This record gives sequence, structure tokens and C-alpha cells, in this order.
Amino acid sequence: MAPAQSTTVPCQYRTGRTLGSGTYAIVKEAIHIKTGEYFACKVINKKLMEGREYMVRNEIAVLKRISSGHPNIVTLHDYFETSHNLYLCFDLCTGGELFDSICARGQYTEADAAELVRNIFRAVKYIHDCGIVHRDLKPENLLFRSKPEKTEQIMIADFGLSRVMPENKLSQLTEICGTPGYMAPEIFKKTGHGKPVDVWAMGVIAYFLLAGYTPFDRENQRLEMEAILAGDFKFEPEEYWENVSKTAKDFVSECLTIDPQSRPTAEDCLNHPWLTAEQPHFVENE
Ligand code: ADP
Ligand code: MG
Repeated sequence: MAPAQSTTVPCQYRTGRTLGSGTYAIVKEAIHIKTGEYFACKVINKKLMEGREYMVRNEIAVLKRISSGHPNIVTLHDYFETSHNLYLCFDLCTGGELFDSICARGQYTEADAAELVRNIFRAVKYIHDCGIVHRDLKPENLLFRSKPEKTEQIMIADFGLSRVMPENKLSQLTEICGTPGYMAPEIFKKTGHGKPVDVWAMGVIAYFLLAGYTPFDRENQRLEMEAILAGDFKFEPEEYWENVSKTAKDFVSECLTIDPQSRPTAEDCLNHPWLTAEQPHFVENE
């Protein structure tokens, strides 16, 4: 990856349409003037981040550690700053967010859902093997490189909340962070958390893909948190789940194990029958 450069976007890149926005950033399409190459440029306003600049430095540090290491993780190509903004230039993913794709389809077929979950989990395992926990896995942070139909091109983005975990420690992070509907119970309990929170979030994502709605959606955030702490979710209403196999439901239930120590690891999940079966348990309802 290129070292930090004291260039400005107007010098080297021309920015275009807005691709998306998140908590701290606006992401714009950008063309590298010399090469004509397209990128996605995450523009972070320094003033908005005041006092939390360490978050961006952390995001860059994590990305440096993992970039180009896995085909399903966005690569950071360049970064620089001006007096107002920080700029992070990534591979451009033109296929949009998984979130929009789920909303457009209503729900995924079980075969497509399994394919996506398998591909995402392979990248999660890679991240975990590098000693990193993502902490903000959700369909808004999962992007299609070119087209939403291409399940093999799903990319993990947004390492803004990720952390490098010290070795031999299962859980040591205690700050409350993430997106409520995807947060594991141990985050709310503040008992310490680590890599298992990503597996929990993947359980929520798998449920969302299969049903078209999320498992802990409640009237307000307090009820949502209580449901998460109690692991209170159901495969209901029946009409959304009648064509989903028992194997898929078992996979989701395992990811949503309340106790992080008993929750399967990313590797365990990849070895679950739902993800290993050649012709999985779709169509027929065992
Ligand atoms: P935040 O930390 O503010 O959530 P993200 O890194 O998630 O910022 O980016 C915000 C949004 O911008 C994403 O949800 C996505 O819609 C879009 N986006 C981010 N990275 C890319 C990319 N590499 N290619 C295309 N769109 C992107
Ligand atoms: Mg985001």
C-alpha cells in the first residue's frame, strides 16, 4: 500500500457521486486523474471526529494489516489528509450494499443465503486469524464488488470499529459499540467481548437473509436489548420460515448462542452442515 502522502484529493483524484454514508464518513466515487482508475474515497471530516481521531488511525492500522490478504475484504489503496478531512481510498464496489439487495429481493433463497454466508465467513475467519475482531458486521457494511447477483464477490468493508486482539485472550474489550440489532449480549453486559461478537452478528445476518427481517427487532431499543440478552428470537411467522430447512435454522441458532464461550468459532461455522453440504438441505423441509 502507498505510504501516507501529503497530497490533496483535488490534486490527485477527482471526486464524483456519493456512494453512501455512515456514522462518521461520506463515501464518494473518485477517479485517479493520472491513471483513470476508479476508487471509493471515504471522506472523514476532522471536526466531526475531534477527540476520536484515534478511530481513523486504528481503522488504517487494521486495514494495513489485512488489506490484499483476502479477496472478500476491501483493499485500502491510499490515504492522505488535508486540514479539514481525512481520505481513505478503497476498491470501488459498484454492486451496492447487501442491505439494499435484501430489501430489493424481500428475502434470499436458502441456496443463495448459504453461499453468501459461506463467503462472508471465510473472510471473517481470515480476519480472526489475523487477530482482528470487526465488531460492526451488518448488511450495510457488506458490499458487492460489481453486481449483487455475484455472491462470490461480497466484500467486508468498514473497519472503523475493529480492534486488534491481544493473543491468547478470548475477550477483553468492554466499550459498548456497534449497531444495536447486531450486537451480541456480552457487549451489553460489559463482561468483556472479542471475536465471538462477529459470529453473533453473522447469525443475525443469516436470519435476515433467510427471512427478510431481523430477529431482535422490537418497539424500542430497550426491548431490543432485553430480547438480545435473553436470546429471545423465533423462526416466526411461519409463512416466512416454512421453506427453510432445519439445518439452516440450527446454523442460525448456534451463531446466536448467548454464552460467547459456547458459541461456535468462525471455523466451526464453516464446518457446519449448512455450509459444507454440496447440495444443501434446501427445498425440502426436513
Ligand atoms: P461508516 O464508518 O461511516 O459507516 P463506511 O465505511 O461503512 O463508513 O461507508 C459508508 C457507506 O459508504 C457504506 O455503507 C457503503 O454504502 C459506502 N461504501 C463504503 N465503502 C465503499 C466502497 N469501497 N465501494 C462502494 N461503496 C462504499
Ligand atoms: Mg458503515
